[in-house]
Amino acid sequence: MKYVSTRGGMAPQAFSDILLEGLAPDGGLAVPESLPQIDAATLASWRGLSYAELACEVLSRFATDIPREDLARLTEAAYNDQVFSSEDIVPLRPLAGGLQLLGLSEGPTLAFKDMAMQFLGQVFEYVLTRRGTTLNIVGATSGDTGSAAEYALRGKQGIGVFMLSPHGRMSAFQRAQMYSLQDENIHNLAVKGVFDQAQDIVKALAGDLAFKSRYRIGAVNSINWARIAAQVVYYFHGWLRATTQAGQEVSFAVPSGNFGNILSGHIARSMGLPIRRLVLATNENNVLEEFFRTGVYRPRSPAQTYATSSPSMDISRASNFERFVYDLVGRDGERVRALWAELADKGSFDLSAHQASFAEQYGFVAGQSSHEERVGTIRNVFDETGVLIDPHTADGVKVARDYIEPGVPMLVLETALPAKFSETIEEALGRPVPPPAELADLESLPQRVTVMDCDLQQVRAFIEAHAKV
Ligand SMILES: *Cc1c(COP(=O)(O)O)cnc(C)c1O
Repeated sequence: MKYVSTRGGMAPQAFSDILLEGLAPDGGLAVPESLPQIDAATLASWRGLSYAELACEVLSRFATDIPREDLARLTEAAYNDQVFSSEDIVPLRPLAGGLQLLGLSEGPTLAFKDMAMQFLGQVFEYVLTRRGTTLNIVGATSGDTGSAAEYALRGKQGIGVFMLSPHGRMSAFQRAQMYSLQDENIHNLAVKGVFDQAQDIVKALAGDLAFKSRYRIGAVNSINWARIAAQVVYYFHGWLRATTQAGQEVSFAVPSGNFGNILSGHIARSMGLPIRRLVLATNENNVLEEFFRTGVYRPRSPAQTYATSSPSMDISRASNFERFVYDLVGRDGERVRALWAELADKGSFDLSAHQASFAEQYGFVAGQSSHEERVGTIRNVFDETGVLIDPHTADGVKVARDYIEPGVPMLVLETALPAKFSETIEEALGRPVPPPAELADLESLPQRVTVMDCDLQQVRAFIEAHAKV
């Protein structure tokens, strides 16, 4: 299996090569030349597998340059009950009204980013050790990616981590989770701006090819293909746990921001997994909901990006969206390049000519949720079922309810645990959620963070001074 760029300007490369890169050299994103297909017999043979074994099966289709026995070791190290607090790694629980909750947040940082990041930590160390080289990870986070990356990479040999976060825009728990890490290879940079501005700095650094090669800059943002591949696994797992027969269809509802999570669902579906609907849920930052409703992609400016009570979805520009558009326009790199040129020029592009295919061919439907709906959903799910969900998952539940169909299980992806967003839970239920016992005094631990202006040169200078060489 080789990888090419969504903008058509990259010679085919192996998994291990694109693993360590951010954007492709032509500014596009790496995608498989063609997707592996999983037939019904193969799928049926996966029913008895553990999560780690299933991950090995799925990922061996993408990482064809890593020997299978090595991959089995890496997935076992990533997905076990020492790292995850559920024995099944990703538990499936019933909710009321035909909904089920696919628990993606049992990892060390209590959010679904751990699912991909734990594998990434293993495979990065594996590839770097074999190549005898080092890597400096530079990323931007609106909360959950950064902490998941830091927990997956802390203490790893030869890896430095520089994580930009929007100063003052994360919850107290999220801040404590990241900034309390004292490992010397972990660097938290709180920049005075919104997530998208932080991400622009990361993109600018990654686009500076001399800097990038001198300091061996890599990425763990949601554009990293290995993350997308690792996330494909839990769509297979969810389907296997929710069905008993070949061909039975399942729908997934996905709280969305950067379009990484749901893109993995799109990949799983394109590999032949019987997915009926991919239900995309946004919060008030509804760029993606608007696209699926109108066919027009119109990212917002930082000033038009609202700080909401589902903050990990406060994204105005969805970096992974380009990979879906690539498929939508018939995997035509020239066309993608032209669309993104139009976007840079006019601030939007219009694919309404393709609108009929969104649901029919690709299964995509969408909806959005407001603060009142989010809080109301947390409350009524708790009242009806006794299950406490987090604000992001609540956006998923709210939108999923509009798309339930008889006989089709609707699996809502639980993208974080409520303890992470205690302020909003308190608003919904009138009392805070105690954090898990082992994290009870997280917020009182000393914090290690450097606050700086949202300025490319300052960030660059910091990395130059602290990079692994
Ligand atoms: C990252 C995140 C999302 C959004 O996922 P994308 O892959 O960016 O679409 C939703 N909920 C939570 C809790 C997250 O951390």
